[in-house]
Amino acid sequence: MWLDLRKILDTPGASEPFRVTLDPDTLAGGAIVGFKRPPEASGEVVNTAGLLNLRGELRAEMTCVCDRCGTVFDREKVLPLDVPLSADVSDETSPEVFAIEGDGIDVSEVATTCFILNTETKCLCRDDCKGLCPQCGKNLNEGPCHCAAPVDPRLAALAKLLGGETETEN
Ligand SMILES: [Zn+2]
Ligand SMILES: [Zn+2]
Repeated sequence: MWLDLRKILDTPGASEPFRVTLDPDTLAGGAIVGFKRPPEASGEVVNTAGLLNLRGELRAEMTCVCDRCGTVFDREKVLPLDVPLSADVSDETSPEVFAIEGDGIDVSEVATTCFILNTETKCLCRDDCKGLCPQCGKNLNEGPCHCAAPVDPRLAALAKLLGGETETEN
């Protein structure tokens, strides 16, 4: 969506609202398998003492796959947007600044870039996801499996010090 900024470019205090629906296909990938409905970004571009800032939020209801256990789950993400815009296209010193092209800016492109830059490198169904048992493949979030519990290396060392009798008894 192209947002015309001519009305606010030279008017400190002025603002231009926007609301845009983003292309789910561009945003999906990695742990994100899809969206329940197309993500939306809304807010306004504000002229603060001559400097333009895009402010607002991006809302996405996405379907993800857990990196650890493979469970498919839904997650809602609300990403605050606060992006400086610059009329000086040659300003390549700061990659965080988006260039105004002519008299406006492509709001969809700005929001899409912000979403991609803020994608978590790790996607877990819950912070303490226990993952899958490496031996039988059972999802350990649903309960323990019947495989032997992994031996704590510290306890193993202690058992060795004490003679390790319990292991050899039969
Ligand atoms: Zn998980
Ligand atoms: Zn197991």
